[in-house]
Amino acid sequence: LGGYVGFQTITDQIQKRMLQRGFEFNIMVVGQSGLGKSTFINTLFNASLLSSTGRTLPTTPIPQTTSISTTTHTLTEGPVRLHLSITDTPGFADTINNDRCWDPIVKYIKDQHSAFLRKELTAQRESRIRDTRIHCCLYFVKPRGGRGLSELDVMVLKKLADVVNVVPVIAKSDSLTLEERAEVKELIRSDFQKYGINLYPYSAPFMTDDDSAINHQIHSLIPFCVIGASSSFPHPSHPQKLIRGRRTRWGVIDVEDERHCEFVYLRNFLMVTHLYDLIDTTREVHYEGFRAKQLLALKESSA
Ligand code: GDP
Ligand code: MG
Repeated sequence: LGGYVGFQTITDQIQKRMLQRGFEFNIMVVGQSGLGKSTFINTLFNASLLSSTGRTLPTTPIPQTTSISTTTHTLTEGPVRLHLSITDTPGFADTINNDRCWDPIVKYIKDQHSAFLRKELTAQRESRIRDTRIHCCLYFVKPRGGRGLSELDVMVLKKLADVVNVVPVIAKSDSLTLEERAEVKELIRSDFQKYGINLYPYSAPFMTDDDSAINHQIHSLIPFCVIGASSSFPHPSHPQKLIRGRRTRWGVIDVEDERHCEFVYLRNFLMVTHLYDLIDTTREVHYEGFRAKQLLALKESSA
């Protein structure tokens, strides 16, 4: 059996099927209240909707978030349909006592795994299970010159890193000088090491040099310095172009200008370079871990 049979065309069949289904990609934002999480969601959706469909969301004031809620939009690029969902969470420090403030968030993430598992285990399996598992959790760190993670950050991040891919971002980075940004980035990175918080992308035992190099490059960008904005206005020197940003007394911050912040790098990381890996890692690391534990518990309780 040395000749060419032609089964390599399976890649076209796989591609066709995947394109028909579309992809579900679910992001969650977590952090203290007032750090711009809801604004960031608006920025990410608007920037993506504008380039993919030409429409924008209306500019409305963003109310304070009081419950965990998810917004979904379907984006289309060429033949690919992406069902992008972003889950907003109420910030901590809304209550005096922050003890176990992460519980509802961790529970939400686990609930999605458990819903998926339940559907997988039913006899009459749906041919296609809607995926609501969180593929990436963006953790918003308060911008403070000369300071890294707070004690609360460390506690919450440890809990989150056990169940989901966590990517830290420095919120409202317009409030830091360039020197402070570099310093805070370094401090946060060393806090991750110091407290043993497992950061995505994880290193795997059989990685190629290329994979390690890419991971290393991503780790050197993390945490991303982001700025959020919910309004857009004409570009000061090219009025026909709309920019998304913040107007200040000293000028305009364009969130999509990489000289101003790292929003574009983060969007590229999420929606271009690591889109599939985030989905795959969720399935292979986080969901598999959850599934194994649940099935073992089930076996023990029936024995
Ligand atoms: P959340 O509680 O984390 O959801 O925060 P919100 O998105 O509700 O934002 C709280 C306030 O911060 C609002 O007044 C926003 O306009 C403002 N804000 C959001 N993002 C930024 C940012 O990147 N820089 C600055 N300076 N302000 C921001
Ligand atoms: Mg909010």
